[in-house]
Amino acid sequence: MTVQQLKKRPLSRFLKDFKHTQTHCAQCAKLLDRITLTRRGEIVSKTAIAQLDTLIDENGWQVERQSWAALCRFCGDLYCKEQQHYFDIIGFKEYLFDQTEMSHGTIREYVVRLRRLGNHLASQNIPAPSSAKGYFDDSLEPWLPTTSTNNYRIALRKYGQFQTLNQNTSAQYQENKSTSDIY
Ligand SMILES: [Zn+2]
Repeated sequence: MTVQQLKKRPLSRFLKDFKHTQTHCAQCAKLLDRITLTRRGEIVSKTAIAQLDTLIDENGWQVERQSWAALCRFCGDLYCKEQQHYFDIIGFKEYLFDQTEMSHGTIREYVVRLRRLGNHLASQNIPAPSSAKGYFDDSLEPWLPTTSTNNYRIALRKYGQFQTLNQNTSAQYQENKSTSDIY
């Protein structure tokens, strides 16, 4: 028999090697400094990883590997903890990345600021504006934090631009859809 049995190792070992080979964030392509590992979109802590002692071979790992991603801490927080946020933080971040020339650092600042503002507004039970216009017409003005107010105002306007684009895109989509329905 020439068929060689593939050596089995605990999953945690494969993950450790995997972690060492990842150089860039799977979401934003930033050079990785501190790595967050996720499995199917959920963060798996170092301690939890160390306990993954299921024995698998290289083939098993190739399958399992597809569920894992290495993210920078920023994206890890963003994608795994911000799903239920006051603002569409993920959409906003992607908008800044795709549609503006902002640097990674500036984007991060905008996102952090908006996230903070969202928590602030949510804690006071202030409803989010129902249309993009509401981000420009100062209707949230009375509830903005009293420190760094202008910074929050700027972030809000930027978010308004993103929301406006969103509205136009979905309106266009609706239009295209109704046109194609005719033919
Ligand atoms: Zn990232």
